[in-house]
Amino acid sequence: MNEQQCPICYGTNACNVEDAKNCWCMKVKIPKQLLDKMDGKSCICQKCIEKYSHVYTSPFR
Ligand SMILES: [Zn+2]
Ligand SMILES: [Zn+2]
Repeated sequence: MNEQQCPICYGTNACNVEDAKNCWCMKVKIPKQLLDKMDGKSCICQKCIEKYSHVYTSPFR
């Protein structure tokens, strides 16, 4: 398992695993549906968060 790999798109998540508490992913709000997709070890990349945040907060559901 690669901790720096996004579990959705398998691209680099640019997560700061060395210093996860200061990682960018701690500063963004991740929709619960996305958290469910995460295995708890690797972060979702910024692109996927943006993409899915838009989907989950869309009024046209
Ligand atoms: Zn991704
Ligand atoms: Zn992270």
